[in-house]
Amino acid sequence: MYNYVIVGAGLAGCVLAERIANVLNKKVLVIEKRNHIGGNAYDYFNEDGILVHKYGPHIFHTNNKKVWDYISNFTDWYHYQHRVLAYVDGQTVPIPINLDTINMLYNANFTQNQLKEFFEKIRDTKEEILNSEDMVISKVGKELYEKFFKEYTKKQWDLYPSELEPEVTARIPVRTNRDGRYFTDKYQGMPKHGYTKIFENMLNNKNIHIMLNVDFKDVIDDIEYENLIYTGPIDYYFDYKYGKLPYRSLRFEFETLDCEKYQEVGTVNYPNDYDFTRITEFKHLTGQKHYKTTIVREYPSSEGEPYYPIPQKKNIEQYKLYEAEAQKLKNVFFIGRLANYKYYNMDKVVEESLKLFYQNIK
Ligand code: FAD
Ligand code: UDP
Repeated sequence: MYNYVIVGAGLAGCVLAERIANVLNKKVLVIEKRNHIGGNAYDYFNEDGILVHKYGPHIFHTNNKKVWDYISNFTDWYHYQHRVLAYVDGQTVPIPINLDTINMLYNANFTQNQLKEFFEKIRDTKEEILNSEDMVISKVGKELYEKFFKEYTKKQWDLYPSELEPEVTARIPVRTNRDGRYFTDKYQGMPKHGYTKIFENMLNNKNIHIMLNVDFKDVIDDIEYENLIYTGPIDYYFDYKYGKLPYRSLRFEFETLDCEKYQEVGTVNYPNDYDFTRITEFKHLTGQKHYKTTIVREYPSSEGEPYYPIPQKKNIEQYKLYEAEAQKLKNVFFIGRLANYKYYNMDKVVEESLKLFYQNIK
């Protein structure tokens, strides 16, 4: 007899399992359909001994001290601040767009104030930001939008920014200073011994049992339990009764090279060239020393594992039909990026999971 069954051993599932087992001292069964814990943040040492992220590069960053303190119970940190370059007009320049980006791109020598004036001149003023195109051109105008955002977004989502909610490109700020970091959050870093170690530490409790390689629908009728926490795709839970919710997928192509270093920074984005969106070299992120190096190319795809909810009005409306069904259920809780159909970063998943625990789980 379990007090809680948790579907999914990703970040949301692990946080809740840990809290329920440790704080409430209750019995938890975690059911995971993959052959490992950790969800999309899972990492492992590949055959050459290099630590890689199976589902694409993950960097932890947050402004929420509670979230940072909570995760810090399960890991020490390697101090890392992510840097990304974009390959544009034959050279690699910093993204988010900043003072250096513009000076390199236009072979200019702007000061910060001159750049502010430049942006004022080139930006399109918008009364209302209706979509992800408006979001960018209201800050930097059409030309920079086309160089950095238009085709990257088309590749990533198979949609133009004008077809996506503003939140998608709002993730990438525009700066007039020389700050070349991808994230400016107060707390950022990489887990010193990898993400999987965090999940192992969270689940290491006699109250927690884990079943891997099992879809919950195949076993749930045979399990005795009081409450269910579901972190998978919400449309699957309800047998697609309101139709399939669109999720975007990726194909990851890993390559290990016989050299110590492949590129200058952790990630290089390719908005206008190739079928992949970006290349990440893991050793930059993890600080690992090794005579070889592993990179991953991300090829967006409509088929495959659901990685991204697609932020479009019609999808959000469709999700709301499922959400209303979910709210009618007693003793069933929906949490996480797939179950809430939200483009959450890891810190937001932790925040929402802790909120659910402290408000609703007894
Ligand atoms: P998931 O990690 O998806 O976990 C859900 C789990 O449920 C999965 O393991 C799945 O197999 C399991 N499951 C689903 N259905 C069933 C079923 N029927 N039966 C049993 N098990 C089931 N966030 C950051 O903060 N920083 C980053 O740098 C970052 N980079 C990212 C890069 C990529 C390419 C992607 C895709 C995401 C990135 N994220 C990043 C987001 C991060 O991955 C998510 O916020 C987080 O992992 C979501 O956790 P979750 O538990 O909600 O979902
Ligand atoms: N984006 C872009 N060009 C870039 C980087 C990002 O157009 O060089 C847009 C694109 O639509 C992308 C979104 O901004 O999907 C969010 O980028 P982020 O790097 O946060 O994506 P994630 O790491 O979640 O895949």
